[in-house]
Amino acid sequence: MFVLLWTMNLGAWALPPGAAKPPDPQDIAAEAVERAGLPPGDIALLDHPKYKWQHLQTAHFLLHHDQKMFAAKVARMGEQFYDSISADLPGLRDRVSPERSHLFIFRDPREWKAILASTPGLDPWAVSFVRGNVMLLQETGASPADKMDLLAHEMTHLVFNRFLPVRLPLWLNEGLAEYYGEFAYRAAKGMGQSKANAFRPLKSWMPLAELLEASAYPAAPAEASRFYATSKYLAGFLLLDQPRGKWEAFFARVLAGESASAALLDTYGWADVGALEKAFARFAR
Ligand SMILES: [Zn+2]
Repeated sequence: MFVLLWTMNLGAWALPPGAAKPPDPQDIAAEAVERAGLPPGDIALLDHPKYKWQHLQTAHFLLHHDQKMFAAKVARMGEQFYDSISADLPGLRDRVSPERSHLFIFRDPREWKAILASTPGLDPWAVSFVRGNVMLLQETGASPADKMDLLAHEMTHLVFNRFLPVRLPLWLNEGLAEYYGEFAYRAAKGMGQSKANAFRPLKSWMPLAELLEASAYPAAPAEASRFYATSKYLAGFLLLDQPRGKWEAFFARVLAGESASAALLDTYGWADVGALEKAFARFAR
């Protein structure tokens, strides 16, 4: 049984006492929305008369929304998640800055269905997604915490797209997004979170040999959810159960362009994927 508390890793998450509060998001007029770097499809979305977009601007984001209350929360939490996720990427800089990322917020499930139908390559179960420097976020979830967990997941992809010089393998990209999705909101709220709570015993997982080489999402919803769960647990295993120095060495090798699977086994000293799976099983069960 694993009992390390997340609070031991809290470090960068909470604002230090006396730290300046970030400025409030600014309402801006449609004519003032920066469009530099925005692909034609997203410009069409921005200009589509069906959506009566209003706009909010923060240090790193331009939000397009039709209800300010939720959008303002996304703006504030988004900036906090940006700070905490990027704090875990020491030595890397935001390569997109000063350009802002665009966040489109959808509240109507029918509008979301239309977005899914008009976006090639998306799986029908997608609830929100990031493409390049743009996030399409759906307001969905049973509770405010669920909504912010989803934002933290997508914000991980957005921050990685802004900071990382390489594309991460699918399991690592989704595993880290799930990891931050689990912890970022609760940590930002100063709520304690234990490993036991976040990583309950996993009944079944995708064989790691398959997971590590996956280059596309499984089509069936049950398989897709197994893929996400296994990715999340593997990220949790590496970040919470193994020495942090190894994580840093491994991640640096991936960023330098090495094969993630080879770098993983070599950095952690597992002879093969079977040895990794054996160690992982002790964490996951
Ligand atoms: Zn994701």
